[in-house]
Amino acid sequence: MSEKQTFSGNRGLQLEEPLIFEIGSYQNCGVDLDEVPEVTSRLGDCAATGNVDLPGLSEPEAMRHFVRLSQKNHAIDAGLYPLGSCTMKHNPRLNEKMARLPGFSDIHPLQPQATVQGALELMDDLAHWLKTLTGLPAVALSPKAGAHGELCGMMAIRAAIEAKGELATRNRVLVPESAHGTNPATAALLGFKVDGIPANAEGRVDLAAFKEKLGDDVAAIMLTNPNTCGLFERDIIEIADALHDVGGYFYCDGANFNAIVGRVRPGDLGVDAMHINLHKTFSTPHGGGGPGSGPTVLSDRLAPFAPLPFVVSGEAGFSLVETMDDARLGADENPFGRMVAFHGQMGMYVRALSYMMSHGADGLRQVAEDAVLNANYILASLRDVMTAPFDNGPTAPCMHEALFDDSFLKDTGLDTLDFAKAMIDEGYHPMTMYFPLVVHGAMLIEPTETESKASLDLFIATMRDLVKGAKAGDMARFKNAPELAPRRRLDETQAARNPILRWQEPAAEAQAAE
Ligand SMILES: *Cc1c(COP(=O)(O)O)cnc(C)c1O
Repeated sequence: MSEKQTFSGNRGLQLEEPLIFEIGSYQNCGVDLDEVPEVTSRLGDCAATGNVDLPGLSEPEAMRHFVRLSQKNHAIDAGLYPLGSCTMKHNPRLNEKMARLPGFSDIHPLQPQATVQGALELMDDLAHWLKTLTGLPAVALSPKAGAHGELCGMMAIRAAIEAKGELATRNRVLVPESAHGTNPATAALLGFKVDGIPANAEGRVDLAAFKEKLGDDVAAIMLTNPNTCGLFERDIIEIADALHDVGGYFYCDGANFNAIVGRVRPGDLGVDAMHINLHKTFSTPHGGGGPGSGPTVLSDRLAPFAPLPFVVSGEAGFSLVETMDDARLGADENPFGRMVAFHGQMGMYVRALSYMMSHGADGLRQVAEDAVLNANYILASLRDVMTAPFDNGPTAPCMHEALFDDSFLKDTGLDTLDFAKAMIDEGYHPMTMYFPLVVHGAMLIEPTETESKASLDLFIATMRDLVKGAKAGDMARFKNAPELAPRRRLDETQAARNPILRWQEPAAEAQAAE
């Protein structure tokens, strides 16, 4: 493909954007500042000796820089974003409107509680919905993302083990091989030994292997359900019972709750702790637009150890329990500590509750049903040309995501990365690649309930055309891709082995070379 070169480097109205360090300079300042008055410095040795070298730009220059950068960033608001395990769903504008109400957006965490009763009530309402939907009696709202929620749940588990005086001996955590990397990382961070459980040929936890691993030293299992292969763990109740029999706790990674919300209550499955990614299941923005929020629900056995702060209500209205002393006044509360400076992501609480209330209980159930239906539509429409490793045919549907491997690319000379790069030229953000690790060249596709049938049909037709091109040996379409994106293919090996993480002024480089 011949590429038209332009004098400016711009491509039509898609403008080329240098780094801010290349266009700004510390001599420039976007605002008029008064002359600094003469003062005797009291900084002594601590006085700055050089320039801080922050790039300076005028206000319109700074604004254009960031708007142009934002136009290079693909977003769920621009098109289908099929990342499996990440749940990129539409964020309704109603949520944004609610989050901008001054009573929620213009308050301060240190304001007297009597002046923020509405915000506290909203946190209490959100807690009520989360407890009702999961069938668990307590929730810690404060964790700021899924991984943080895992830490919260596992810290509650560790506190419960410590309270029983078993911390020295109960130190092994079982983690299935298909787990998200944050699961073993969380267990290891807390000083537990991580012990992997293999998957069976169906892509689920191998029940026999799991049972062999049980013993008095098992602190917990960290299990994702539906799992990262997009499958419901059918043996989950048997797993929970066997684990509880040896005194272990069941941590469920609830990142995929969007596949079962309104249909299954994790509390009924024997779960002791589970984080909920508000930014996946309940539509709050994530990725570059975050922040996330990872409230963690807890069973009766763990509830007393829930971290500070939490909302309580009484005759005088709502209040936050902020200190250990106040917490201990309650029944048998014994918080393991505190995870955040204030109360968590208030803006996300508002957006999530707005999503819940606008859907209602029946609507949330339909969210799960549509997410699963859409994933199965993709699986059914691509299974004849791509290869799905754990596909047991139409009678054994997947959950919210469709998992493919790279065996359909065998003998084409192409791999998953080539396929993904060619998707970019077609206007699709690639699916999740090479995860879960238990599948060779994995391609994990999650459409969510957001996509219409027309949108899915176009995606499927594009994927089928790419497969046809791959099988016909159209190497250029893949090996050179992406050709139409603002940046071409990176040298992935160089980027990983020799990352250049700091921008250097070209002049300084030239001087150094002399
Ligand atoms: C997204 C995800 C996490 C981590 O959540 P963050 O909010 O990104 O920290 C953990 N486990 C699974 C299965 C996930 O999909």
